[in-house]
Amino acid sequence: MNHSAVDQAQKAIGCAMSRRKFLGCLAASGLLAAFPGALLRPLEARAQGGFQEGLEMFRNACPRNCYDTCSIKTFVKDGVIQYIEGAPESTFTDGGLCVKGYAYTRRPYSPDRVKYPMIQSGRGSGNWKRISWDEALDVIAKKFIEINEKDGSMLGLALSKYSGNFGITNYGVEGMMTSLGYTSRFVGTPCWPAGIDAQNYDLGDMWCNDPEDLVNARYIILWGANPAWNSVHSMKYILEAQDRGAKVVCIDPVFTQTAAKADVYWEVETSMDGALALGMARHILDRELHDREWVRNNSLGFEDFADYLRREVTVDWAAEQSGIPAEQITRVAEEFATAKPASIWIGYGMQRHVNGGASVRSVDALVAMTGNVGKAGGGARYGHLRTWGFNYHALLQKRPEGAVGFLGTGGPMGDFDFTGDVQDEYTDRPLNMNKTAEEILTADDPPVRVLWVSCKNPLSQDFDRNKMVRAFQKPELIVSVEQYFTETVALSDIVLPVTTLFEEWTVNVSYWHYWMSINEQAIKPMYETKSNIEIAAALSKRMNELQPGSCTFPTDIDTKDWLAREFNQGIYDLFGISSWEELKNGPVKAKMHPASWHDLQFGTPSGKYEFRSELCAEHGHQALPKFKEGRKPYDKLRLLTPHTKFGIHSQFVNIDWMEEFNPEPFCYLNPKAASERGIKDGDQVRVFNKIGEVRLEVKLTEVVPPDVVMMYTAWFRNNPYNCQNLVDDEASDMGAYKTGMPGVAIHGQFCDVARA
Ligand code: SF4
Repeated sequence: MNHSAVDQAQKAIGCAMSRRKFLGCLAASGLLAAFPGALLRPLEARAQGGFQEGLEMFRNACPRNCYDTCSIKTFVKDGVIQYIEGAPESTFTDGGLCVKGYAYTRRPYSPDRVKYPMIQSGRGSGNWKRISWDEALDVIAKKFIEINEKDGSMLGLALSKYSGNFGITNYGVEGMMTSLGYTSRFVGTPCWPAGIDAQNYDLGDMWCNDPEDLVNARYIILWGANPAWNSVHSMKYILEAQDRGAKVVCIDPVFTQTAAKADVYWEVETSMDGALALGMARHILDRELHDREWVRNNSLGFEDFADYLRREVTVDWAAEQSGIPAEQITRVAEEFATAKPASIWIGYGMQRHVNGGASVRSVDALVAMTGNVGKAGGGARYGHLRTWGFNYHALLQKRPEGAVGFLGTGGPMGDFDFTGDVQDEYTDRPLNMNKTAEEILTADDPPVRVLWVSCKNPLSQDFDRNKMVRAFQKPELIVSVEQYFTETVALSDIVLPVTTLFEEWTVNVSYWHYWMSINEQAIKPMYETKSNIEIAAALSKRMNELQPGSCTFPTDIDTKDWLAREFNQGIYDLFGISSWEELKNGPVKAKMHPASWHDLQFGTPSGKYEFRSELCAEHGHQALPKFKEGRKPYDKLRLLTPHTKFGIHSQFVNIDWMEEFNPEPFCYLNPKAASERGIKDGDQVRVFNKIGEVRLEVKLTEVVPPDVVMMYTAWFRNNPYNCQNLVDDEASDMGAYKTGMPGVAIHGQFCDVARA
């Protein structure tokens, strides 16, 4: 895009809805006070209607790692986005976006955007210089050829990629790596692996009810979930269920905005969720409120579980462990068991512990023993990948002839390995994504010589940042593909500018709801940005110019054509369409039963719900959903680092409109803990532990317990704050079975605080 077009864009956007106007709109509508529990409607958040003539509408989808994966309508005039709104055709998106979504228009036109390929002279020096795509690709391609010749393989090239953009064609990044040979891949998922394994042991897969079916529940327990911030569209179903008479219980160590909407709130002792669930199960068993018929017909090992409960669990013990009074445990347990259908939403925070998988299994057991699995309005809701059956065409590339890799069986594993049944003599080298720093520092034969980072900001989001900074000194070349100059880019050698969702074709589905949305290219790529698959093609072209046959990725691609290649008959049948082009008329919903496991055919080895899982025992865990201790405290206070309402991981917080709400990082501390340390509200404090420290403002509040410090995971463009200074890479108990690597005990961290 030339400068006049950029000026025009900025003028149009500034005119359409300035930051002040955006805030004013929110305030005038009363939504600022209710926000973000309230879903913002386009009429409130949109600018004045000055663009009614000549607007062209495009379909987009929010590809961030968010439950809601919204369907978006984007309105463009003269090649410039005027405004966006939620697509009303999706009953889930229902015409509204969250506040982050409405700020999307600021992303493509942000002055902070990475606009051109750039090279940094001296990693971390800030001495960046604009270079051409040809120059950038030349440096990279020559380095790839050099390491292949030096090592005899491409294993010295490591890919660090995760959830920055879940558009399906972005799996072309993995495809590009395959096209180059056998490479090293960071395997696993930081977000939810222990819970995925737990649900696989119990049910045979992770599969949740349609969230729209929450309206049918007569009792809802939101266990460690905060949809008022993290799944705003789901709140309307919870509130509707409440209107219809359902009781809502929120269990969370922190009094969240979701808790404020609940009928009952339990401030559970962090990581003691399993004890609480088992105490409830014991009481249900004692009162014979479990569903004997369901358990007899559909489960395995219930009697063993019941024996365990009778021998080793009491309500008083559960009360002592969890901090919830015994009489409340018995009351809610009875209500839950008798109010059919009843459902539990298991949030991802609960399983970010060394006992996280065991805790999720205990909660699953509570839902199953009350006969609430396989029922509309019921279910142990965690997530699903049932609508993700695309071709992954961009991913499935051939290796170059004669490529040599890692000898052994340890290639990429789990649900995020899309290589199918292909059995090669060699594999890629798996590195643990949840120990990225450690892997870079210790990988040998060959070492990680080149690091390629895409759809990820490891310096902000991965664990033990001090170790990560050391690790980023080791590779010979670090390439980041980014939209902004993040912390990760700052420690890279080359940054390649990548498109926003408005500038590329792709398709999106959700790990929560059942909708699919096309993502059309609404505007031409700004500046010199390219999509991930265009970058792969450009790199392949240069590789083949330098060394014919060294990369099998196509050298010339049409992104729309590649979108079309993602579809197959299975996807068409599942969504009831005959062509992907139909998605241009609006998002479509999978023709799936709203109740997961409605046919009671479970994916476990026995085909039943398994209270006793021999597979789980084979994998080194307990066969029954027994209590497992949390991480032993190593400092005075517990550290919690959940998501902020103003961002997702490191995204959105740097957008100017978000900065207006949330300009600086801060932490929450209970007044009791503060007075013990002579800390006052608004003080600058130092939060520290054995691996590092952060300095930030403190806000005193009783929404966090007296033994907790809470701060949000985020990336601020003008502030060195990083909560990963305090989070080490201690593993959670489960995750390796289905995602390749265990998760991380993100909330099993401890610290202390003092005035700075
Ligand atoms: S962040 Fe989530 S709720 Fe907000 S627009 Fe994106 S998908 Fe929708």
